[in-house]
Amino acid sequence: MKIIIEGIHANLRFSAAHMIPEHESCGVIHGHSYIVDVEVEGEPTGKHGFIVDFKDVKGIMRKICKKLDHRLLVPLKSPLMDIQVGEDKVEFQVSGKEYKIPREDCCLLPIQSTSAEGLAEYFAKELYGELREYNKMIRNVKVCVNEGIGQGAIFTYPGV
Ligand SMILES: [Zn+2]
Repeated sequence: MKIIIEGIHANLRFSAAHMIPEHESCGVIHGHSYIVDVEVEGEPTGKHGFIVDFKDVKGIMRKICKKLDHRLLVPLKSPLMDIQVGEDKVEFQVSGKEYKIPREDCCLLPIQSTSAEGLAEYFAKELYGELREYNKMIRNVKVCVNEGIGQGAIFTYPGV
């Protein structure tokens, strides 16, 4: 069985800037208003017969959205960006261009790319880790990160 939360109706959104290094049009810093959808698959448990309380899923997702909201998303594992994280600033080089951004304006993420695909994987892993504390019978979480309305990437974790 699964529960579903549609971000456009449940207000799971964030706005952020990013870049896709070496991409023809997305290789410059630009932004999106992201909307995040969630499915959680598992067995209902407890006295209420919930897989997990909608409120708890939304709470976790909003916490992650808030962390990314109004920040420049920086993929720390990018093979295409030479990133140095200082106390007050983040510096990186991409395609011969140098960037120096205040640390507080950045959200540093342990991923290779801030593509919708990379963000969906990040959200799914974070959500799964936290939800397993509520219900050990959760099998999968599926997260769709939409770059605006009408296009998104889906990642299922752990995907068994
Ligand atoms: Zn983009």
